[in-house]
Amino acid sequence: MSVHRKSLQTTDAGYVNRNRQKVVRATGRRGDANQKLYEIRCLDCGAEYLANGADIHERLCPNCQNGRPSSGQNAENEVAIGRAAWTVAEAKARFSEVLDKAAVEGPQTITRNGKPAAVIVGSGEWDSRTRRKGTLLEFFQSAPEGFADLDLERAKSAPRELDL
Ligand SMILES: [Zn+2]
Repeated sequence: MSVHRKSLQTTDAGYVNRNRQKVVRATGRRGDANQKLYEIRCLDCGAEYLANGADIHERLCPNCQNGRPSSGQNAENEVAIGRAAWTVAEAKARFSEVLDKAAVEGPQTITRNGKPAAVIVGSGEWDSRTRRKGTLLEFFQSAPEGFADLDLERAKSAPRELDL
């Protein structure tokens, strides 16, 4: 794995650092100290955020690894727009927003201790997918990248209350 990544610079699209943070693309904008800003995606939870070029090699996910917030002006708003993953605390504080996004943008992942714990799916999407596909397994297999890693054992058991 490290062999063919050796040639990638830390600012190249596709570069993955030791914390499993992947460079999605250059934004063409400037961050702190006039550095270039890059869009980064966490391979663990799917959160997307912005990082200064010089920080990429050591960047930690702001969502699940206690990393710094997104860099650059207005960055926090952009993280909120681009993300599909929430910590339990965030979901609790902004539950209406989570529901809105689930309805409009698609499934929202709730993470606990940095791992996906639950997915909030809009009822319309749930109905259409379960009616068409039949099983939960097929539903998750057809879900966007990142949802395939979920623990399906839990999904098969009886619904449990979300511990908010
Ligand atoms: Zn993460």
